[in-house]
Parts: sequence; C-alpha cells; structure tokens
Amino acid sequence: MNICKKCKNEIQSDYCPYCGHPQKIERINGRYIISEIGSVLNFQKGIFHTIKELLIRPGQNIRQFISEDRSRLVKPIMFILICSLTYTIFEQIFEFKDEYIDFHVEFNDSDSVMNFIFQWINQNYGYSNILMSVFVAIWIKIFYRKYDYNFYEILILLLFVSGMEMLMFSFLGVLESLTKIPVLSFGTYIVLIYAFWATAQFFGKRKMLNYLKAPISYFLGSITFFLVAIGIGLLIDLIK
Ligand SMILES: [Zn+2]
Repeated sequence: MNICKKCKNEIQSDYCPYCGHPQKIERINGRYIISEIGSVLNFQKGIFHTIKELLIRPGQNIRQFISEDRSRLVKPIMFILICSLTYTIFEQIFEFKDEYIDFHVEFNDSDSVMNFIFQWINQNYGYSNILMSVFVAIWIKIFYRKYDYNFYEILILLLFVSGMEMLMFSFLGVLESLTKIPVLSFGTYIVLIYAFWATAQFFGKRKMLNYLKAPISYFLGSITFFLVAIGIGLLIDLIK
C-alpha cells in the first residue's frame, strides 16, 4: 500500500483513484519544458479566443461559462488583470485620456481625502472599474432578481464585460493617438452600448425589458459607487 502524495488516501495503482494524482511524477526534462511552452502558447490562443467570443456573443458565452463549461473562456480574474495591464501599458505609450474616465472633480481644499480619492479614481481606471462593478452587480441583482444568479455569478459577468471595455478603450485610444481623429469620446457610447447589450443577452436576448434594465443598473451602480466614494471621503475629512 502506498499513500497518495496529494490527498493522503491509501492507493495501490499508479494513479490515485480518489483524486487522479499519479503516484510518480515525471522528472523535469526537455519534454516538460516543451509542454510548458505549449501551455503558455495555448493560453495566448485562449485569450484571443475569449476576446473573439466575448465580442460576438458576450452574454451567451458568459452564461455558458457560469453554468456549463468553465474551460471555454480564460478565467475571469486572469482576464481582467490582463485587460487592465493592456490598458495601462497602451495608455502610457500612446498617452490617451478618455473624458468618460476623466471626471474633472475639483475641490477647494487640495489636501482633502476627497480630492485624493477622486484623483485615485481618475488615475486608476482599471481598478476603479472593477470596484464599480461591485456596485453595478448589486443593482443588476435587484433588477434581475427573478433570474437564478447569485451576486458572485453576476460579478463574473461584469468582470468579463469590464475587461472587454478596457480592451475597447485601449484600441480606440491607440487609434485616436495614431490618427488624431477623436474616436474616444464617440467610442464611449459604443463601449456603454456593448455593456448593456452583453448584460441583456446574458439574461435572455428575447426579452425587451432586459435591454431597459441593463442601462438603469449601470447608471445606478456608478452613482452608488461615487456616492460611497464621496461618503468615505467626507467621513475621513470630518474625522481629520
Ligand atoms: Zn489522491
């Protein structure tokens, strides 16, 4: 009798019948290096496949990811990290700035926490987008409460959608910076329409009401996000 190195059950075969872990793992060799390179390349394919699928049928693909098959798309947290990184890199190289992201909030007291919070939101579009998703998810949960999706599943929907938004802004920003045609301000509407469309499609594309609830949820979600930001800022400023 041997003991499985992974789940500690007693085993007799080469593979653990409980968890499938092999009793002996192969030594690191050339084949291992090649297979690791292969998995990185596969991951790249996975990213491009995910982007393509989320561009054509975002709602259906995310719904399938949640309830049927997790291997179809890149994992959502990984996806949003890659998208934020892409956005940050392109933003720094091509130096574009979107009005949608730039809030132009000015306070008289430059030392205030409130000022700091809004500056942070402006400068960290990727992170604030993720934070805002949490508040949008709450409103989506309320407006689509008849559907059997929990808060975390809705958050996954929003992570995928936010990732795509960041990629679209990156693309438009690079385009604007290269051609000097102001596509970003107009593109903001396209990006928003994409988010509403993806959300409505996720819950069922045939129901007209779903297309109405999506923009309302996003609108209320972003308002709640800013109210909470203002609230926290005011509170800390008051305590100081
Ligand atoms: Zn085992």
